[in-house]
Amino acid sequence: MDAAQSSTPYKVLARKYRPQDFTGLIGQEALVRTLSNAFATGRIAHAFMLTGVRGVGKTTTARIIARALNCIGSDGKRTEPTIHPCGVCEPCIAIAESRHVDVQEMDAASRTGIDDVREIIEGVRYAPASARFKVYIIDEVHMLSKQAFNGLLKTLEEPPPHVKFVFATTEIRKVPVTVLSRCMRFDLRRIETPELIAHLKSIAGKEEVKIEDGALALIARAAEGSVRDGLSLLDQAIAHGETGSITAETIRAMLGLADRSRVLDLFEKVMGGAIAEALKNLGELYDHGADPLAVMQDLLEIVHFLTRVKVAPDAEGFFDGSSKEAKRAAEMAGKLSMASLTRAWSLLLKGLFEVRDAARPVAACEMALIRLAYAADLPPTDKLVRDLMDGEGPRTASAPPHAGQGSASGARQGDGGPSANRAPTARLGEGSARTASAPQPIPDNAPTLRTLEDIAALAQSNGAPVLKVHIENDVHLVGLEPGRLEFRPGPRAPRTLAADLAQKLKEWSGVRWVVTLASEGGAPTLAEQKRAAKAARHERVLQEPLVRAVMDRFPGAEIVAVRDIAADEVAAPTPEKDEE
Ligand SMILES: [Zn+2]
Repeated sequence: MDAAQSSTPYKVLARKYRPQDFTGLIGQEALVRTLSNAFATGRIAHAFMLTGVRGVGKTTTARIIARALNCIGSDGKRTEPTIHPCGVCEPCIAIAESRHVDVQEMDAASRTGIDDVREIIEGVRYAPASARFKVYIIDEVHMLSKQAFNGLLKTLEEPPPHVKFVFATTEIRKVPVTVLSRCMRFDLRRIETPELIAHLKSIAGKEEVKIEDGALALIARAAEGSVRDGLSLLDQAIAHGETGSITAETIRAMLGLADRSRVLDLFEKVMGGAIAEALKNLGELYDHGADPLAVMQDLLEIVHFLTRVKVAPDAEGFFDGSSKEAKRAAEMAGKLSMASLTRAWSLLLKGLFEVRDAARPVAACEMALIRLAYAADLPPTDKLVRDLMDGEGPRTASAPPHAGQGSASGARQGDGGPSANRAPTARLGEGSARTASAPQPIPDNAPTLRTLEDIAALAQSNGAPVLKVHIENDVHLVGLEPGRLEFRPGPRAPRTLAADLAQKLKEWSGVRWVVTLASEGGAPTLAEQKRAAKAARHERVLQEPLVRAVMDRFPGAEIVAVRDIAADEVAAPTPEKDEE
């Protein structure tokens, strides 16, 4: 954004492209059809119930309904509700800006009591000040107390003709049936990924932003059917975007995702016992911004996918049906036994929890992979048991087949020797036997949340990449203590960020969190800190005499990347290079 523009506040894409009428509401054809019929026949319900996951467009739809009910047309002469509100008359504009005196919005999440509802019940008796209908929009209506619902029910049973209710909820099952039965119900569905991709693409086009199709697909998948989340991520991608086209790589780094085909490579190496190469692959994924936890999650999904392919060859899922990776995965499924797949599953699941709770997740991830590589080389537990019963004793417990070849991996294992390997092996066998029959216990220790990074990691580990991106990019931390978070939202922060954080933190940590907004101050965002650290490191490297000498000798040379090299890599560089 240039200096001339920065004087006006940034308008986030989700707000800029918020649909103003039903035609702009993508993916909700069933709702539009039913409402159109109701309006055409003049049988408009007194109360509407909109349900669906967050970000699917409930509040937007509620406002469009309020406009449809009260539009007076561009000439001001319309006397009946219309399914095509004009968007330019005074009621239409006032409702869109949430300032129409007869259209009241209430968030039941913060006002749950009978007194709040009583205000409405009292108001219902009076005729609208200027509009055709008084419209009460109650968001998260399931949060109302029982008493409040009872109060509301009386009004719903005999509603005055000039009153309409529009309720919205993410948890329809918590709404009493007595209330539900008096409403016209609409289930707003998640938008399908291809539909969302097309929508994002058209908006990128309008914004004159170049973005790869692969990048759009990653955004759409992370948004999980929510247009709002999709637009919000696109906003972030544009902000991140350097010159040129926004690449899938940029989006992957932003979301902390790993390249799936590379994770498949990693899995193949681990299961083949090639630990040194596997660790190198992991290092590369990490350098490209993949979160170790995301890598573990992807590995688990791969194992799940392979197992399903084994029982049902036409299984769909992690990889797109006809892709190169899907074919490779199918071949892999053929080679791996069911026993080794289920063992891989339980070891990775254990690893996932360790990575989540570790101070250094990447180290925990490495350990989990090493363990898996060793276990992959063992015969299945039942065979071990049979061998023992036959008096043979376990024959294995040696290094995995290829691991000893690379000098780097040799160094890693050198402290043990065959006898040292036997003990952990036996324990692995027991562990996998136990976890195969009993559900994996979830650690009962609540996550420790001392820093904003902890909260971002928690969002990532709970499968909320969109919230993670907002935590990293839009939160200027003012204060953080257990149960309390205060921050100044950045210009791209969604309006609901504080409420979303409060709700999710409670859900994930099991304790109530008070999240407050500050209007000024606060630390730089995590993303800003990361960028600054990277720039500082770059600068430091530039000052190195050797680097300066090189730069002097080759004018125009540029530093493309700065990487730390682990000590053992310096001592024994890995011989082969497995880049394609
Ligand atoms: Zn209008």
